[in-house]
Amino acid sequence: MRKKSELNCPNCGAPITGEYCPYCGSVFYDWAALDTNEPKYVKFKLGDKVVMAKAIMRDYTLTYDQTPATVYANDEPFITLSAPPTMTIATEFEVIPENGVMYKVIDEKGDIA
Ligand SMILES: [Zn+2]
Repeated sequence: MRKKSELNCPNCGAPITGEYCPYCGSVFYDWAALDTNEPKYVKFKLGDKVVMAKAIMRDYTLTYDQTPATVYANDEPFITLSAPPTMTIATEFEVIPENGVMYKVIDEKGDIA
């Protein structure tokens, strides 16, 4: 029985508690927790280092598109084909310095170096 804080992996169904499925290796991003009201700690790559910063999400845009494709013959529209839908998620974060520090480098164990 899984705990309330656990999720099931949408790829293989295994119970997961963190960012990675221990069985199939799928990675998860909990976008539902990234509201615009509260700063969050965000881990990201900066060059060859992994860093952690306090940041607040400033923009979150979902773009859905299903533009039909037109096939041309002799430079004239010949047929219009339906296209598979696409969806894009665009986010923007503003880093909030803590005591004048923009980010902290994370070591291999996941601790602040
Ligand atoms: Zn999995």
